[in-house]
Amino acid sequence: MILGIDLGTTNTSAAVIKDGKPVFVKVGGVKDNYLLPSIVAYSDNGELLVGERAKERYIIDPESSIRSVKNHIGTNQEIPLFNPKTEATEVFTPVEISSYILEEIKSLAEEQFKTNIEKAVITVPAYFNDKARKDTIKAGELAGFEVMRIINEPTAAALCYGIQSKKQKAQHVMVYDLGGGTFDTSIIEINGDVVEVVASDGDRNLGGDNFDYAVFSTFYQAIKEKGNSAVNNIRNMAILLSEAETAKNSLTTAAKYKVKVPSLKYESTIYREDFEKLISELLSKTLNHCRSVIAKSKLKPQDISKILLVGGSSRIPAVKEMLETELGIPASQEVNPDLAVVTGAAIQAAIIDGQKVSSVLLDVAPHSISLSCVLEKNGKLIPNYCTKIIKKNAPIPCTVEEVFSTLNKDQDTVRIAIYQGESDFEEANSLIEELKFDCSKDKKAEEKEILVSFSYGLDGTIQINVQEEGTQNTKIHKVDLIKKAKAKEVVIQ
Ligand code: ADP
Ligand code: MG
Repeated sequence: MILGIDLGTTNTSAAVIKDGKPVFVKVGGVKDNYLLPSIVAYSDNGELLVGERAKERYIIDPESSIRSVKNHIGTNQEIPLFNPKTEATEVFTPVEISSYILEEIKSLAEEQFKTNIEKAVITVPAYFNDKARKDTIKAGELAGFEVMRIINEPTAAALCYGIQSKKQKAQHVMVYDLGGGTFDTSIIEINGDVVEVVASDGDRNLGGDNFDYAVFSTFYQAIKEKGNSAVNNIRNMAILLSEAETAKNSLTTAAKYKVKVPSLKYESTIYREDFEKLISELLSKTLNHCRSVIAKSKLKPQDISKILLVGGSSRIPAVKEMLETELGIPASQEVNPDLAVVTGAAIQAAIIDGQKVSSVLLDVAPHSISLSCVLEKNGKLIPNYCTKIIKKNAPIPCTVEEVFSTLNKDQDTVRIAIYQGESDFEEANSLIEELKFDCSKDKKAEEKEILVSFSYGLDGTIQINVQEEGTQNTKIHKVDLIKKAKAKEVVIQ
């Protein structure tokens, strides 16, 4: 077995191809969590932590933690980590830190696949020089892998897309990879089985972290203006930064987010438009790099058939809008932006392993999933209207959140009816679940907002979370779509 690994600046993930489908390594914690934070930290008792536990540590004790080590790979930068047990600062190389991350993902993969895994394909940014590539191989070897190949991240993303699109004609696509700390864009030529990087460009200091800081600064200013100096406390700052990231991620699917930081007595609402304004200059910078990569490739925008959105931050709706408007090239979200690179690495690994991978199936939602509601249109109320929460062919796993309001002032229960199918109305779709949700009685209708989120997992289940805004009132329910389909023989038109 050869493991495909995306050793990212922010997150690391791994996968293999089994029976023509990618199987991702679970990193524990939340269901469907395949992203291991690329963070290493010392615990109080001198244990080296990697991933989520190291991320928590980073918040409390940044001196004992290191994140974004990938920015230093290929350099001789010394990385100091304070060991609270020995009370001494130890120095590591970027290769060593990277090897701890790779070791962690290796052991998680071995546990999941119940076998020893000794070989790996690891992805690197297209701009990595020879030294950075060799250091990545060294890190892999230190972690106990034989590194079979190093492949470029945009190539991996395009490989995943190329195989999915199954087009034989030569074509050019642009990969727009906006991650946590870096932005990379490349023009890729796909010609039959050959996938090649024609040109690349980017910014090593532009990504989701910058967006987090932009949101953080807004909150920080507002709290400071209220005269609350506790905001300067390092711990409160860390809490505020983490709340800023949550707000940013929520605004990808929701129109607004209610910020609550009890330790700073701060509450506020941030709207998607506010967020888009905050990051618009940063997004324009990425656009300039896209224009420059097109110029470098000596192609015209019309020669590029698609922009492939890759990296967690490419989920932000304003990214797709900007690229399509400014460049006139359709931007595709056909592949899961977090998992596109690792899927490509797994495909490459499977090819080296001698597997036939001409028809790798990427998981998508086979049917749209909607919530039935009453639609208000031109002053008229239209009942039994199915609002699509997860659209057909959306890459899974995914989580989508929407806010609904109750219809009547004194309404104290809400019907949560979930349908599968492509029609706008209940009768032509199949009911897959119906729940009753009790909400508070003492508020006006317009104030009762119900937050509904659907998490569509790779195991064919949907977890539905219903929450009344501003309250602790929540309901969590899980539906197994595969079992349902078997039991009810759901027929979808
Ligand atoms: P990298 O390639 O740097 O390891 P990723 O592709 O994993 O990074 O992207 C991580 C970034 O994506 C983080 O900044 C994270 O906050 C951001 N991100 C993840 N989900 C969302 C979302 N729903 N909306 C906006 N940004 C997101
Ligand atoms: Mg990445």
